[in-house]
Amino acid sequence: MNESKNNRRQYLVFGLICLLLLLIFNAMVKPMINASKVKETNYSFFLKQIEAGTVTQVQIEDSEIKFEVTGADGQSQVYSTVRIEDPDLVDRLSKNGNIDFTGSIEETSPLQGFLFSWVLPIVFMIVLWNILFKSIGKRMGGMGNAMSFGKSNAKIYVKAQTGKTFADVAGQDEAKEALAEIVDFLHNPNKYADIGANLPKGALLVGPPGTGKTLLAQAVAGEANVPFFSISGSEFVEMFVGMGAAKVRDLFQQANEKAPCIVFIDEIDTIGKKRDGQLGGNDEREQTLNQLLTEMDGFDGKKGVVILAATNRPESLDPALLRPGRFDRRIPVELPDLLGREAIMKVHAVKIKTDGNIDYNAIARATAGASGAELANIINEAALRAVRNGRQAVNQSDLEESVEVVIAGYQRKNAVISQQEREIIAYHEIGHALVAAKQKDSAPVHKITIIPRTSGALGYTMQVDEAEKFLLSKEEALARIATLTGGRSAEELIFHTCTSGASNDIEKATQLARAMVTRYGMSDNFDMIALETVNNQYLGGDTSLACSPQTAARIDDEVNGIIKTAHEKAAKILSDNIEKLHELARYLLNKETITGEEFMAILGKETAAAI
Ligand code: ADP
Ligand code: MG
Ligand code: ZN
Repeated sequence: MNESKNNRRQYLVFGLICLLLLLIFNAMVKPMINASKVKETNYSFFLKQIEAGTVTQVQIEDSEIKFEVTGADGQSQVYSTVRIEDPDLVDRLSKNGNIDFTGSIEETSPLQGFLFSWVLPIVFMIVLWNILFKSIGKRMGGMGNAMSFGKSNAKIYVKAQTGKTFADVAGQDEAKEALAEIVDFLHNPNKYADIGANLPKGALLVGPPGTGKTLLAQAVAGEANVPFFSISGSEFVEMFVGMGAAKVRDLFQQANEKAPCIVFIDEIDTIGKKRDGQLGGNDEREQTLNQLLTEMDGFDGKKGVVILAATNRPESLDPALLRPGRFDRRIPVELPDLLGREAIMKVHAVKIKTDGNIDYNAIARATAGASGAELANIINEAALRAVRNGRQAVNQSDLEESVEVVIAGYQRKNAVISQQEREIIAYHEIGHALVAAKQKDSAPVHKITIIPRTSGALGYTMQVDEAEKFLLSKEEALARIATLTGGRSAEELIFHTCTSGASNDIEKATQLARAMVTRYGMSDNFDMIALETVNNQYLGGDTSLACSPQTAARIDDEVNGIIKTAHEKAAKILSDNIEKLHELARYLLNKETITGEEFMAILGKETAAAI
């Protein structure tokens, strides 16, 4: 409807432009053309022609005489000349026979004139208009879309187009199971109808970024073999109020026609945010959401339209969206565990050439907390590194290096660092490692390096747990904080100074100590009180305080106390093992990178002094 209105307006504008051009044409161009057909001449030529009897028509105006001369060959030509006071003129004209001097001289016939001055320009302009319009349309591509308001851009996916199946999604078994049920329902709905079961109308995939939510939805499309409408939440966001709602309507209309089918709304939080009567609230977004709610209620669940949505901010969604009958099933897509990480790497490693004996478990252990997207990236980085080093296949060291690239950035091979700074960095890192190794609740040291990275890290100590950990005990937390303070403690012990190199350690130690006090109930002076709430669990997990200012001050004291104790403990460990600290730091300065085994070997053997 909107479209035809739009077209009508276009034609109106076109008509007006035509009329204008036509007027201009007739007022200016035509006289010029006509003028070129009339030859100017002098009065004596006129008289001569009258004498010769070749003049066939004469038109006498106030200051000008126009006359037509017809030659022997029948060709006629119009001339004009100035009018001179000549009383004998009429006499002379009538004397010379059949001169028609009453009528005006028409240069062209009336029909020809009409065609020439009206029809031809219109035809010409229509042709021109069409050419222009087509070329503009082609060049601007989107113009056509911008003009056709209210149309949905929901793409229809069928099996072949996503090309993804559940086999492409590693790990995430619970999510796959829940989705497999939906796929099964779409394949044979009768099985469910017979027993009277209603399948959920919608399922919401929630989880941190990069865990494979979009991938899972595509896999469902691949498995289900039904039409798959995919649209991103942001595509509903329009400039004009009501447009987003129109799109929702359109999408569901299409889906209803194509049932059974799947509708997938990615990043649904863009439209599904809580409606919270805020000042200057977003009318357009709320209307879109309302329309979505209405549509989800409106369609028949038995018909076989299943709505999937994905988000990493479930807590910001409007509660109305989450009630039973809408997105009543919530499918968590969490960060992969050890086995999941291994499986994901294997899925992606199929696409690259490897040298056959790769220990994926070792890489998986070193990447605790990495998402599927990061793991896919690690595999790709490894392949790039193999190419860079001129090899045909990826080996273990490529993978290990690419883990570090993804964690800490590329090596800055030609960064110039003075000898003194290198020494401080070496002692700092060995400080971390030594404190870690000398505490029983700490993860083993995997690697120590003082090669600077593009992320700004000047060196780092990597610790890798033997097995996947799901819980963090108080002892482990305290050991981790002590390890974090170990770097600074070594600087103080050896160089009697402190550097900015510890800033990242300080940040991490504070974060952990705060969490111990405010969220884990691990401090001595507070009981199990939640003093902070996590805002968005899947996106960074920033927190906001939920306590009085007095309590906040006490929290700060508590955090400071925890870190102070840990710092003292680290300092003590280092001064007790100062010989080892020197030996290991020297070794690291020489080698730049040492493995956990080398480290433990040196730590384990008796010092020369002790023998
Ligand atoms: P999001 O959860 O943010 O929508 P995506 O589905 O877009 O994440 O995942 C990004 C990429 O990460 C995928 O294209 C895929 O290559 C990889 N990936 C994530 N999770 C997995 C998984 N479980 N198995 C295999 N690949 C995965
Ligand atoms: Mg996604
Ligand atoms: Zn450090």
